[in-house]
Amino acid sequence: MYVRPKAPLDFEDIAAKLRRRDPRRLWRSVDELACTPEYEAFLHDEFPNDPAKEPTTAKHLLNRREALKLMAASAALSGLTACTKLPTEKIVPYVRAPEEVIPGKPLFYATSIVDRGVAIGLLVESHMGRPTKVEGNPDHPGSLGSTNIFCQASVLALWDPDRSQTVLREGRVSDWPAFLAMADDLRTNLSSTKGSGLRILTETTSSPTFAAQMRSLLDQFPNAKWYTHEPCGNYGAQQGARLAFGRNVNSVYRFDKAAVVVSLDSDFLDDGAASIRYSRDFTNWRGIETPQAQMNRLYVVENTPSLTGAMADHRLPVRSSDIENFARSLAAALGLAPQKTGSHVPDQWFKALVGDLQSHRGTSLVLAGPSQPPGVHALAHAINGTLGNVGQTVIYTDPVEASPEGDSLPDLVKEIEAGQVSTLIILGSNPVFTAPADLQFAQQLLKVPLRVHCGLYDDETAEICHWHVPQAHFLESWSDARAYDGTVSIVQPLIAPLYHGHSLHEMLAVLTGDIGKSDHDLVRDYWRKQRSQVSQQPFDNFWQKTLHDGLMTGTALPGVSPKLSLDYGKLPDPPASNAQAIEIVFRPDPTIGDGRWANNSWLQELPKPLTKITWDNAIALSPATAWRLGLTTGDVANLSIGGLKASGPVWALPGHADNSATVTLGYGRKRAGNVGTGFGLNGYLLRTSSAPWVASGLQIQKTGQNYLFAETQIHHPIDRNGQQVEEESENAFARDLVRIATLAEFRNNPQFAKDPEEEIARNLSLVQPYKYEGYAWGMSIDLSRCTGCEACVIACYAENNIPVVGKYEVMAGRDMQWIRVDNYYRGDLTNPETYFEPVPCMHCEKAPCELVCPVGATLHDHEGLNQMVYNRCVGTRYCSNNCPYKVRRFNFKLYSDWVTPSLYGLRNPDVTVRSRGVMEKCTYCVQRINEAKITAEKENRFVRDGEIQTACQQACPAQAIIFGNINDPNSRVSKLKRQTRNYSLLAELNTRPRTTYLAKLRNPNPEISST
Ligand code: SF4
Repeated sequence: MYVRPKAPLDFEDIAAKLRRRDPRRLWRSVDELACTPEYEAFLHDEFPNDPAKEPTTAKHLLNRREALKLMAASAALSGLTACTKLPTEKIVPYVRAPEEVIPGKPLFYATSIVDRGVAIGLLVESHMGRPTKVEGNPDHPGSLGSTNIFCQASVLALWDPDRSQTVLREGRVSDWPAFLAMADDLRTNLSSTKGSGLRILTETTSSPTFAAQMRSLLDQFPNAKWYTHEPCGNYGAQQGARLAFGRNVNSVYRFDKAAVVVSLDSDFLDDGAASIRYSRDFTNWRGIETPQAQMNRLYVVENTPSLTGAMADHRLPVRSSDIENFARSLAAALGLAPQKTGSHVPDQWFKALVGDLQSHRGTSLVLAGPSQPPGVHALAHAINGTLGNVGQTVIYTDPVEASPEGDSLPDLVKEIEAGQVSTLIILGSNPVFTAPADLQFAQQLLKVPLRVHCGLYDDETAEICHWHVPQAHFLESWSDARAYDGTVSIVQPLIAPLYHGHSLHEMLAVLTGDIGKSDHDLVRDYWRKQRSQVSQQPFDNFWQKTLHDGLMTGTALPGVSPKLSLDYGKLPDPPASNAQAIEIVFRPDPTIGDGRWANNSWLQELPKPLTKITWDNAIALSPATAWRLGLTTGDVANLSIGGLKASGPVWALPGHADNSATVTLGYGRKRAGNVGTGFGLNGYLLRTSSAPWVASGLQIQKTGQNYLFAETQIHHPIDRNGQQVEEESENAFARDLVRIATLAEFRNNPQFAKDPEEEIARNLSLVQPYKYEGYAWGMSIDLSRCTGCEACVIACYAENNIPVVGKYEVMAGRDMQWIRVDNYYRGDLTNPETYFEPVPCMHCEKAPCELVCPVGATLHDHEGLNQMVYNRCVGTRYCSNNCPYKVRRFNFKLYSDWVTPSLYGLRNPDVTVRSRGVMEKCTYCVQRINEAKITAEKENRFVRDGEIQTACQQACPAQAIIFGNINDPNSRVSKLKRQTRNYSLLAELNTRPRTTYLAKLRNPNPEISST
């Protein structure tokens, strides 16, 4: 376990040390740079075997025991089921088997997941009726076959035993008929008042069927009202469009056409339902195959380091509240708005950016992030207009949302205060946890005479409602939604509701009097009525095709041409900027979003992409600000702003803007479930409705307490930090693990990633090389494409039945992920370049792990796979010690949950569930390889290129991972390995890894580079 020194790290000393070093040299963490005795001690004892070195305080013992019970999704239920006699269940074989179900053969169905109202198309794998794995739908414009971490983890949420399982009335078990009886009485009462006092609160929705149901409800009860609350909604963009055009529009970005992109605090590569598609379009410019090819260029101006910022060719850390000034300056420089205030941006940097935009009229793109105020969005529209980008790199359509605009929760609270709400129906939302603190929503809600909640969990809102109805998961229900471009996407169930849940359509049907109508009938009937508008085919044919495809072809919203009517003089003044006052910035958490994913153990254990913290959030500060305040990573601080208070641990984050603190939302849950309750700092306690994203005047007070993070940034180091620095030449560090060049350098020297010494080493061997006939499997990972999103990591969890270990085992360095994404920094602490490197097993042809295994448990096969024979493994872990890449994971304890029944349903039946005492690691998804080989053999052919996709490859939105047969010179992977950018990790060891990398390219503006 890594326990940091209590004294603050001397960031000034670290910064000076960085200035003295070769600027090309990479570093992994501030702790590595400080190189304290505590850090060195952790490295030297990275894999603690000795139980005496495990956490021994009562607190840690208790928590570790709890953590062990959390191994997958549950805790309490696993204990309960272990000691409860289950009713006898007889297995009854099919009398007549469903025609399409063949045991052992999975089926795939198209459906959609919805993120903040916007659909992402999916294909879900079903084994004998059990959904086990989610993939992207290749035909869907929002996914193109890829996914993000939330899509991948959604299948665990389906099987989560902590989901709400019964109707509750005032906290006691009730049932659906009792709820229907109450609803019947309610309808009768509402009819006489035309719905007076009835209020419905939903999240953002784009479902045409839901919107039609709401219209029907409001027709029946004209005095009723519909409110929306989306904790991390894109409301700034809606208001910004109104400022610019006088109406709301949806912006669809064409990154495939944008050669120069300027992001104003927009994390478009990672945040939002469109980010999967945008990642693909953006990174298609980055994975260039020849020096002559063109690359796009990305400028990012942001407060909090993001994945988009990490991909930037030029990143500028600017306080969130100063970004509007930057946007105004940019507009002024392009001949638009009058300049009012300075933007605190280096002059040459700014001029070069303006010049780049002006020379890319029609092929540039400026976009603003959801956390920016309406003025920034309006200015981005104006800038795109003047650069001729509208209709080229940005297309406007009507809004995709069907719900009312804006966050109307404050209006609802006003109505409650005025006594105008007698019945509040909360559908799918958890406002008691997510509402801004100034609304005091819990207290207000208690004033409503009848409170009804429908949600996936018996959560903070359910607790104080009279009625709670379990919501059906999206893999259990029918619905529809629009994709980012408006394409109508179908949500269809893969399984009947596990816990008697009901969809939101069914809840509305109860209110509209359509009781008994299923969500299937509601959705189908809606589209039957719309048929003439979407298809000329007979309805049954149209419907069958829609269900098969998962979407309605040709329903993307047509482009519109709103007229820019921005009055620069009437733009709301940007927030007063006091350079010394500290601002607080809120962001959705990178792995648990706004808190709705808090009970998902895969996502909790997934390291946050830029800090590598697991199971927690933190107060992120720039190292300079932390130093100024006398704080260091792990110090607990009290935060207060405008009378609101919270406390949490600090994290000094390189690249963060100074005098600004970022808190991610979603943590601090009180009723998330057994997995997610109790971790982290609740940012909603500091958030107000008037300043939902940024507020100035934060007070930070050091408490003197220290906090231990379960972080993985310092785990599994392969950059030789365990050795003395003097052993390595500066040059070795500079060229080593992540090979980087600018586009200009690549053009000058296409062979820059090659090392002649490696080529010599390849021919040095005491034994004759083995000749691989037939298939020889290999992988290529393009670092220029990789955005660090970690979808590959979660996909690997789902595909390979990887257990979670809990927070305290992560602290002990025992995380089990088979593929990790290493972060590297280059440059100073204030604005370092960030690089990502996914590291799975390298499947070395001369594997060091195999030589040292005393029982032959790790072996090579004739196709080059480095295999683990679990039954032979006796747990000496010599292989792990001898692996230079540190990719082997040992099952120290009984991490897999063997007792929770619902989790049986989750498991991939093609992959062994490992128990304690076994070494495990990436297999290149050998189960997928074997399935493809069996299919090919039956058809008397070879496996086709692209027929096998590893789980990480399939999930990757950037298409950074390519797998295939390297014996086939025409395979995609062979072609990539022939590129000049191809190199092997630690090739000088002559392990001959089958996984190789394509070096990272950046495309900085020469005018800025030379300054
Ligand atoms: S390789 Fe992994 S981390 Fe990199 S972009 Fe692909 S899925 Fe994301």
